[in-house]
Amino acid sequence: MLRALHAWYGREARDLPWRKSTDAYRVWLAEIILQQTRVIQGTPYYERFLREFPSVEALASASEETVLKCWEGLGYYTRARNLLRCAQTIVEKYAGRFPSTASELQKLPGIGPYTAAAIASIAFGERVAVLDGNVIRVLTRWFNIAECVDTASTRRFLQELANDLMPRHCNHGLHNQAMMELGARVCTFQQPLCGSCPVRRYCAAQAAGTVTQRPVRAVKPQPPHYTIVVAAIKQRGRYLLGKRPSEGLLGGLWEFPGGKVQEGEDLVRALRREINEELGIEIIPKKQVATVRHAYSHFRVTLHVYLCGISSGKPKARWHTELVWVKPADFDQFAFPQANRKFLPLL
Ligand code: SF4
Repeated sequence: MLRALHAWYGREARDLPWRKSTDAYRVWLAEIILQQTRVIQGTPYYERFLREFPSVEALASASEETVLKCWEGLGYYTRARNLLRCAQTIVEKYAGRFPSTASELQKLPGIGPYTAAAIASIAFGERVAVLDGNVIRVLTRWFNIAECVDTASTRRFLQELANDLMPRHCNHGLHNQAMMELGARVCTFQQPLCGSCPVRRYCAAQAAGTVTQRPVRAVKPQPPHYTIVVAAIKQRGRYLLGKRPSEGLLGGLWEFPGGKVQEGEDLVRALRREINEELGIEIIPKKQVATVRHAYSHFRVTLHVYLCGISSGKPKARWHTELVWVKPADFDQFAFPQANRKFLPLL
Protein backbone atom coordinates (compact mmCIF):
# COMPACT_ATOMS: atom_id res chain seq x y z
CA MET A 1 0.00 0.00 0.00
CA LEU A 2 2.94 2.34 0.65
CA ARG A 3 4.19 1.66 -2.84
CA ALA A 4 0.95 3.17 -4.16
CA LEU A 5 1.42 6.21 -1.91
CA HIS A 6 5.04 6.74 -2.95
CA ALA A 7 4.22 6.28 -6.65
CA TRP A 8 1.39 8.79 -6.33
CA TYR A 9 3.76 11.28 -4.71
CA GLY A 10 6.27 10.75 -7.51
CA ARG A 11 3.57 11.60 -10.06
CA GLU A 12 1.56 14.28 -8.29
CA ALA A 13 3.91 16.15 -5.90
CA ARG A 14 3.70 19.91 -6.30
CA ASP A 15 6.76 21.59 -7.72
CA LEU A 16 7.62 23.68 -4.65
CA PRO A 17 10.89 25.64 -4.41
CA TRP A 18 12.12 23.97 -1.20
CA ARG A 19 11.70 20.52 -2.75
CA LYS A 20 14.47 21.21 -5.25
CA SER A 21 17.10 20.63 -2.58
CA THR A 22 17.70 18.45 0.48
CA ASP A 23 20.12 21.00 1.94
CA ALA A 24 19.41 21.21 5.69
CA TYR A 25 19.42 25.02 5.74
CA ARG A 26 16.75 25.19 3.03
CA VAL A 27 14.66 22.40 4.56
CA TRP A 28 14.78 24.09 7.97
CA LEU A 29 13.94 27.52 6.55
CA ALA A 30 10.92 26.15 4.68
CA GLU A 31 9.66 24.16 7.66
CA ILE A 32 9.83 27.13 10.03
CA ILE A 33 8.18 29.50 7.55
CA LEU A 34 5.41 27.03 6.71
CA GLN A 35 4.35 26.37 10.30
CA GLN A 36 0.84 27.83 10.71
CA THR A 37 1.17 29.28 7.20
CA ARG A 38 -0.33 28.17 3.91
CA VAL A 39 2.02 27.26 1.06
CA ILE A 40 0.76 30.08 -1.14
CA GLN A 41 1.47 32.65 1.59
CA GLY A 42 4.77 31.12 2.71
CA THR A 43 6.43 30.70 -0.71
CA PRO A 44 7.37 34.39 -1.29
CA TYR A 45 8.76 34.56 2.26
CA TYR A 46 10.91 31.47 1.64
CA GLU A 47 12.27 33.01 -1.55
CA ARG A 48 12.86 36.36 0.13
CA PHE A 49 14.77 34.77 3.04
CA LEU A 50 16.97 32.78 0.66
CA ARG A 51 17.67 35.91 -1.35
CA GLU A 52 18.53 38.01 1.72
CA PHE A 53 20.28 35.22 3.65
CA PRO A 54 21.63 32.60 1.22
CA SER A 55 23.40 30.64 3.98
CA VAL A 56 23.04 29.96 7.68
CA GLU A 57 26.11 32.16 8.23
CA ALA A 58 24.45 35.07 6.42
CA LEU A 59 21.34 34.69 8.55
CA ALA A 60 23.33 34.35 11.77
CA SER A 61 25.07 37.67 11.16
CA ALA A 62 21.83 39.60 10.45
CA SER A 63 20.29 41.94 13.03
CA GLU A 64 16.99 41.03 14.71
CA GLU A 65 15.50 44.15 13.13
CA THR A 66 16.38 42.94 9.60
CA VAL A 67 15.01 39.45 10.24
CA LEU A 68 11.76 40.80 11.69
CA LYS A 69 11.33 43.09 8.70
CA CYS A 70 11.77 40.12 6.35
CA TRP A 71 9.27 38.14 8.42
CA GLU A 72 6.71 40.96 8.65
CA GLY A 73 3.19 39.78 7.84
CA LEU A 74 3.75 36.10 8.69
CA GLY A 75 2.69 36.47 12.33
CA TYR A 76 3.96 34.35 15.25
CA TYR A 77 7.07 36.53 15.56
CA THR A 78 8.68 34.27 18.14
CA ARG A 79 9.42 31.99 15.18
CA ALA A 80 11.43 34.77 13.51
CA ARG A 81 13.45 35.48 16.66
CA ASN A 82 14.07 31.75 17.17
CA LEU A 83 15.11 31.48 13.53
CA LEU A 84 17.87 34.00 14.19
CA ARG A 85 18.89 32.38 17.50
CA CYS A 86 18.97 28.96 15.90
CA ALA A 87 21.17 30.20 13.03
CA GLN A 88 23.54 31.84 15.53
CA THR A 89 23.73 28.62 17.60
CA ILE A 90 24.49 26.52 14.51
CA VAL A 91 27.29 28.86 13.49
CA GLU A 92 28.75 29.26 16.98
CA LYS A 93 28.37 25.71 18.34
CA TYR A 94 28.23 23.52 15.25
CA ALA A 95 30.60 25.38 12.89
CA GLY A 96 27.72 26.16 10.51
CA ARG A 97 26.60 22.53 10.05
CA PHE A 98 23.18 21.31 11.14
CA PRO A 99 23.15 18.30 13.49
CA SER A 100 21.92 15.25 11.57
CA THR A 101 19.59 13.51 14.04
CA ALA A 102 16.12 14.53 15.21
CA SER A 103 17.13 14.25 18.88
CA GLU A 104 20.09 16.63 18.41
CA LEU A 105 18.07 19.03 16.24
CA GLN A 106 15.42 19.34 18.95
CA LYS A 107 17.96 20.96 21.26
CA LEU A 108 18.10 24.00 18.96
CA PRO A 109 15.92 27.10 19.49
CA GLY A 110 12.52 26.90 17.77
CA ILE A 111 12.92 23.29 16.58
CA GLY A 112 10.25 20.96 17.96
CA PRO A 113 9.65 17.26 17.27
CA TYR A 114 7.89 17.88 13.95
CA THR A 115 10.55 20.19 12.46
CA ALA A 116 13.37 18.00 13.78
CA ALA A 117 11.84 14.93 12.12
CA ALA A 118 11.34 16.79 8.84
CA ILE A 119 14.97 18.03 8.69
CA ALA A 120 16.48 14.74 9.91
CA SER A 121 14.53 12.64 7.40
CA ILE A 122 14.66 14.94 4.35
CA ALA A 123 18.20 16.29 4.71
CA PHE A 124 19.92 13.35 6.43
CA GLY A 125 17.71 10.32 5.66
CA GLU A 126 16.96 9.41 9.29
CA ARG A 127 14.07 6.98 9.77
CA VAL A 128 11.85 9.22 11.87
CA ALA A 129 8.23 10.07 11.02
CA VAL A 130 6.77 13.57 10.98
CA LEU A 131 3.47 14.15 12.71
CA ASP A 132 1.75 17.38 11.70
CA GLY A 133 -1.93 18.23 11.22
CA ASN A 134 -1.98 16.71 7.74
CA VAL A 135 -0.41 13.44 8.83
CA ILE A 136 -2.71 13.22 11.86
CA ARG A 137 -5.73 13.60 9.60
CA VAL A 138 -4.47 10.92 7.20
CA LEU A 139 -3.63 8.44 9.97
CA THR A 140 -6.90 8.85 11.90
CA ARG A 141 -8.84 8.21 8.70
CA TRP A 142 -6.62 5.52 7.27
CA PHE A 143 -6.81 3.55 10.56
CA ASN A 144 -10.24 4.89 11.64
CA ILE A 145 -8.99 6.14 15.01
CA ALA A 146 -11.85 7.41 17.17
CA GLU A 147 -9.80 8.75 20.13
CA CYS A 148 -9.52 12.53 20.54
CA VAL A 149 -6.27 13.67 18.91
CA ASP A 150 -5.82 16.56 21.35
CA THR A 151 -4.66 14.31 24.20
CA ALA A 152 -0.98 13.55 24.84
CA SER A 153 -1.61 9.80 24.90
CA THR A 154 -3.26 9.80 21.43
CA ARG A 155 -0.43 11.95 20.07
CA ARG A 156 2.12 9.44 21.41
CA PHE A 157 0.15 6.61 19.88
CA LEU A 158 -0.05 8.41 16.51
CA GLN A 159 3.69 9.12 16.56
CA GLU A 160 4.39 5.41 17.15
CA LEU A 161 1.96 4.47 14.40
CA ALA A 162 3.59 6.92 11.98
CA ASN A 163 7.05 5.55 12.88
CA ASP A 164 5.90 1.93 12.42
CA LEU A 165 4.30 2.76 9.09
CA MET A 166 7.58 4.11 7.72
CA PRO A 167 9.40 1.38 5.76
CA ARG A 168 12.94 0.47 6.87
CA HIS A 169 14.32 0.64 3.39
CA CYS A 170 13.02 3.63 1.51
CA ASN A 171 13.72 7.32 1.09
CA HIS A 172 12.44 8.37 4.53
CA GLY A 173 12.27 12.05 3.65
CA LEU A 174 10.23 11.25 0.58
CA HIS A 175 7.85 9.03 2.60
CA ASN A 176 7.25 11.85 5.09
CA GLN A 177 6.62 14.33 2.30
CA ALA A 178 4.22 11.90 0.63
CA MET A 179 2.19 11.59 3.86
CA MET A 180 2.04 15.37 4.28
CA GLU A 181 1.20 15.91 0.62
CA LEU A 182 -1.63 13.37 0.82
CA GLY A 183 -3.12 15.27 3.76
CA ALA A 184 -2.69 18.65 2.08
CA ARG A 185 -4.00 17.71 -1.36
CA VAL A 186 -6.28 14.66 -1.13
CA CYS A 187 -7.21 13.79 2.44
CA THR A 188 -8.26 17.36 3.11
CA PHE A 189 -10.21 18.62 6.10
CA GLN A 190 -13.33 19.37 4.09
CA GLN A 191 -14.37 17.22 1.15
CA PRO A 192 -11.50 14.71 0.98
CA LEU A 193 -10.95 13.39 -2.55
CA CYS A 194 -11.30 9.72 -1.67
CA GLY A 195 -12.04 8.83 -5.29
CA SER A 196 -8.48 9.74 -6.31
CA CYS A 197 -6.70 8.64 -3.12
CA PRO A 198 -3.80 6.19 -3.55
CA VAL A 199 -4.56 4.43 -0.22
CA ARG A 200 -8.31 4.26 -0.65
CA ARG A 201 -8.36 0.45 -0.83
CA TYR A 202 -6.78 0.24 2.63
CA CYS A 203 -8.62 3.13 4.30
CA ALA A 204 -10.64 1.96 7.33
CA ALA A 205 -12.65 5.18 7.71
CA GLN A 206 -13.63 5.01 4.06
CA ALA A 207 -14.86 1.44 4.57
CA ALA A 208 -16.69 2.34 7.80
CA GLY A 209 -18.25 5.53 6.44
CA THR A 210 -16.62 7.66 9.18
CA VAL A 211 -14.33 9.85 7.05
CA THR A 212 -16.03 13.13 7.97
CA GLN A 213 -15.93 12.20 11.68
CA ARG A 214 -12.13 11.86 11.73
CA PRO A 215 -10.05 13.21 13.32
CA VAL A 216 -11.96 13.62 16.59
CA ARG A 217 -11.03 16.99 18.14
CA ALA A 218 -11.72 18.56 21.54
CA VAL A 219 -14.18 21.47 21.41
CA LYS A 220 -12.19 24.69 21.81
CA PRO A 221 -13.64 27.67 23.70
CA GLN A 222 -14.06 30.94 21.76
CA PRO A 223 -10.87 33.05 21.99
CA PRO A 224 -11.28 36.21 24.11
CA HIS A 225 -11.83 39.59 22.46
CA TYR A 226 -10.10 42.83 23.54
CA THR A 227 -10.95 46.42 22.67
CA ILE A 228 -7.77 48.42 22.08
CA VAL A 229 -7.28 52.17 21.66
CA VAL A 230 -4.39 53.42 19.56
CA ALA A 231 -2.91 56.93 19.32
CA ALA A 232 -1.55 58.12 15.97
CA ILE A 233 0.34 61.04 17.56
CA LYS A 234 1.40 63.49 14.88
CA GLN A 235 3.88 66.36 15.03
CA ARG A 236 5.39 68.25 12.08
CA GLY A 237 4.28 65.59 9.59
CA ARG A 238 5.74 62.66 11.60
CA TYR A 239 4.09 59.98 13.73
CA LEU A 240 5.35 58.62 17.02
CA LEU A 241 6.22 54.91 16.98
CA GLY A 242 7.38 52.70 19.86
CA LYS A 243 9.39 49.50 19.68
CA ARG A 244 7.96 46.60 21.70
CA PRO A 245 10.35 44.76 24.05
CA SER A 246 12.06 41.78 22.37
CA GLU A 247 10.54 39.22 24.71
CA GLY A 248 6.81 38.58 24.68
CA LEU A 249 3.99 39.01 22.21
CA LEU A 250 4.98 40.73 18.94
CA GLY A 251 8.40 41.37 20.49
CA GLY A 252 10.75 43.72 18.63
CA LEU A 253 8.04 45.09 16.32
CA TRP A 254 7.21 48.79 16.00
CA GLU A 255 3.73 50.03 16.82
CA PHE A 256 1.59 53.05 17.47
CA PRO A 257 1.21 53.44 21.23
CA GLY A 258 -2.03 52.48 22.97
CA GLY A 259 -3.54 49.69 25.03
CA LYS A 260 -6.56 47.81 26.33
CA VAL A 261 -9.79 49.55 27.28
CA GLN A 262 -10.81 48.63 30.80
CA GLU A 263 -14.33 47.59 31.73
CA GLY A 264 -16.68 50.60 31.95
CA GLU A 265 -14.13 52.99 30.41
CA ASP A 266 -15.00 55.04 27.31
CA LEU A 267 -12.56 54.97 24.37
CA VAL A 268 -11.15 58.51 24.69
CA ARG A 269 -10.64 58.25 28.45
CA ALA A 270 -8.89 54.89 27.96
CA LEU A 271 -6.67 56.40 25.28
CA ARG A 272 -5.61 59.32 27.49
CA ARG A 273 -4.88 56.97 30.42
CA GLU A 274 -2.92 54.48 28.32
CA ILE A 275 -0.78 57.16 26.65
CA ASN A 276 -0.11 58.87 29.95
CA GLU A 277 0.99 55.57 31.52
CA GLU A 278 3.02 54.51 28.49
CA LEU A 279 4.66 57.80 27.45
CA GLY A 280 4.13 60.24 30.34
CA ILE A 281 2.34 62.84 28.20
CA GLU A 282 -1.14 64.36 27.87
CA ILE A 283 -2.73 64.13 24.45
CA ILE A 284 -5.61 65.74 22.56
CA PRO A 285 -7.53 63.09 20.57
CA LYS A 286 -8.70 64.98 17.45
CA LYS A 287 -10.68 62.40 15.53
CA GLN A 288 -11.08 58.68 15.11
CA VAL A 289 -9.41 57.65 11.85
CA ALA A 290 -9.87 53.88 11.76
CA THR A 291 -11.46 50.83 13.33
CA VAL A 292 -9.60 47.60 12.62
CA ARG A 293 -10.38 44.01 13.53
CA HIS A 294 -7.72 41.34 13.73
CA ALA A 295 -7.54 37.74 14.93
CA TYR A 296 -4.40 36.36 16.58
CA SER A 297 -4.04 32.67 17.37
CA HIS A 298 -5.39 32.93 20.94
CA PHE A 299 -7.42 36.13 20.97
CA ARG A 300 -9.14 38.71 18.77
CA VAL A 301 -8.83 42.50 18.91
CA THR A 302 -10.67 45.57 17.68
CA LEU A 303 -8.41 48.61 17.37
CA HIS A 304 -9.87 52.13 17.55
CA VAL A 305 -7.29 54.50 16.10
CA TYR A 306 -7.31 58.22 16.95
CA LEU A 307 -5.32 61.00 15.37
CA CYS A 308 -3.83 62.91 18.32
CA GLY A 309 -1.74 65.94 19.21
CA ILE A 310 0.32 66.47 22.38
CA SER A 311 -1.01 68.99 24.89
CA SER A 312 1.78 68.63 27.47
CA GLY A 313 4.96 66.71 28.16
CA LYS A 314 7.70 65.06 26.13
CA PRO A 315 7.24 61.37 25.24
CA LYS A 316 9.44 58.97 27.23
CA ALA A 317 9.79 55.25 26.52
CA ARG A 318 8.39 53.85 29.77
CA TRP A 319 7.43 50.47 28.35
CA HIS A 320 8.75 50.53 24.79
CA THR A 321 12.48 50.06 24.33
CA GLU A 322 12.73 52.96 21.84
CA LEU A 323 10.62 55.79 20.44
CA VAL A 324 10.99 57.41 17.01
CA TRP A 325 9.18 60.06 14.96
CA VAL A 326 8.58 58.76 11.43
CA LYS A 327 7.23 60.23 8.18
CA PRO A 328 4.51 58.09 6.52
CA ALA A 329 6.78 57.71 3.48
CA ASP A 330 9.25 55.84 5.74
CA PHE A 331 6.76 53.43 7.36
CA ASP A 332 7.99 50.68 5.03
CA GLN A 333 11.35 50.63 6.76
CA PHE A 334 9.73 49.39 9.99
CA ALA A 335 8.29 45.98 10.90
CA PHE A 336 4.75 46.43 12.25
CA PRO A 337 2.24 43.93 13.67
CA GLN A 338 -0.40 43.04 11.07
CA ALA A 339 -3.14 44.87 13.00
CA ASN A 340 -1.12 48.14 12.74
CA ARG A 341 -0.34 47.57 9.05
CA LYS A 342 -4.06 47.47 8.34
CA PHE A 343 -4.60 51.14 9.23
CA LEU A 344 -1.37 52.65 7.87
CA PRO A 345 -2.96 53.60 4.52
CA LEU A 346 -5.54 55.67 6.41
CA LEU A 347 -2.99 57.96 8.03
S1 SF4 B 1 -9.56 7.27 1.24
FE1 SF4 B 1 -10.30 9.30 1.75
S2 SF4 B 1 -10.29 9.36 3.96
FE2 SF4 B 1 -9.07 7.61 3.39
S3 SF4 B 1 -6.99 8.38 3.38
FE3 SF4 B 1 -7.77 8.57 1.30
S4 SF4 B 1 -8.63 10.64 1.16
FE4 SF4 B 1 -8.32 10.15 3.33
